[in-house]
Amino acid sequence: MKGPATELIHAGETDRGDAVPLTTPIYETSTFVFENAQEVLAYNEGRSSKYLYSRYANPTIVSVEQKLAVLDRAEAALLFSSGQGATTTILMAHVKAGDEIICGSAIYGGTLHLLHDLLSNFGVTTRFVSLEDLASLDRVIGPKTKVVWFESPINPTLRCVDVKRVADACRARGVLSVIDNTFACPINQQPLALGIDLAMQSATKYLNGHSDVTGGVVTGPRALVAPIEKARRLLGTVMDPYPAYALGRGLKTLQLRVARHNANARTVAEFLAKDKRVSCVYYPGLPSHPDHEIAKRQMLGFGGMVCFDLGGEYERAAACYDRLKLVKRAASLGGVESLVSMPVLTSQYGHTDEQLKQAGVTRGMLRLSVGLEDPADLIADLDQALES
Ligand SMILES: *Cc1c(COP(=O)(O)O)cnc(C)c1O
Repeated sequence: MKGPATELIHAGETDRGDAVPLTTPIYETSTFVFENAQEVLAYNEGRSSKYLYSRYANPTIVSVEQKLAVLDRAEAALLFSSGQGATTTILMAHVKAGDEIICGSAIYGGTLHLLHDLLSNFGVTTRFVSLEDLASLDRVIGPKTKVVWFESPINPTLRCVDVKRVADACRARGVLSVIDNTFACPINQQPLALGIDLAMQSATKYLNGHSDVTGGVVTGPRALVAPIEKARRLLGTVMDPYPAYALGRGLKTLQLRVARHNANARTVAEFLAKDKRVSCVYYPGLPSHPDHEIAKRQMLGFGGMVCFDLGGEYERAAACYDRLKLVKRAASLGGVESLVSMPVLTSQYGHTDEQLKQAGVTRGMLRLSVGLEDPADLIADLDQALES
């Protein structure tokens, strides 16, 4: 194992002489050429390294999957057309009617609605549980529980779940543990090393890092990834070679980008924490964060996401949001450009006061995805936007 910067540049960049694409690389080809019937038979019988059809496998996609597997020190990785594609395919492969999923209630909206509105139509039930319940899963896992799905850090408060504790509880009960590692990304958090079975990410965010690709990934042991690969063929949720190429290019600088995201976010968090106009700052790297100790134990870096509160007042938060110039008002995260969102207008839109309280969210919160700009420029922009 070399360093992540070296691995991301060199892993998977092997000679693809076995593939004979119909078009030229980027292997933007839907199908591959065989010499003769013998070769097709060999492929069908699993005795060949050839490629058949890009919905099954494609050299460009496989190259990026190899980078992502190495990054998570996993046996296997699979790419999908989106993070949602990854989530759907993982779950379709590993649950069936009658099974129960336990899911952290602080979860990506798409995941919540997939479980609550769609998978429920197929006889799969989901129990949404609090952070406290995730911390004591022994009490929560039942006889029908098949999968525990959770995130850490969570959106937007960046509260952290003790990942190893979840992994151990699941392992002891024979339940599949899956983490959505999008917010941390593998440079900052290695869930498989902490005992988690499968790690999923939206590659749309830090992995690609340039806000120009939609994609998803899962990593894990071959035995757990194989059924997902089969489901991906059937659901057709594979990534296309062109975005895979762009993702592979983005990945070569992941280690550098994330180091800068981490540093910039810390600088911004420390600036906001000292500012009298800001009532609260949420960043796992600050000693004031409720899960700072957990984060220190399980994270290699504290990430690029920062959340702050302007006294719980919507009007003040909206005014600050509107006044930002360099920081763009947009959903998503993990790109080179700094972005701002208001949780009450996005992830917590339409929630009641009670629901907001449960999520630890207020109407005065702003969430920053701190980008790679010069930190002094980011602070100047926040400073002028906070002016009232
Ligand atoms: C964006 C996101 C997803 C969904 O990924 P898409 O690529 O948009 O489908 C899932 N989980 C988290 C935490 C995300 O931020």
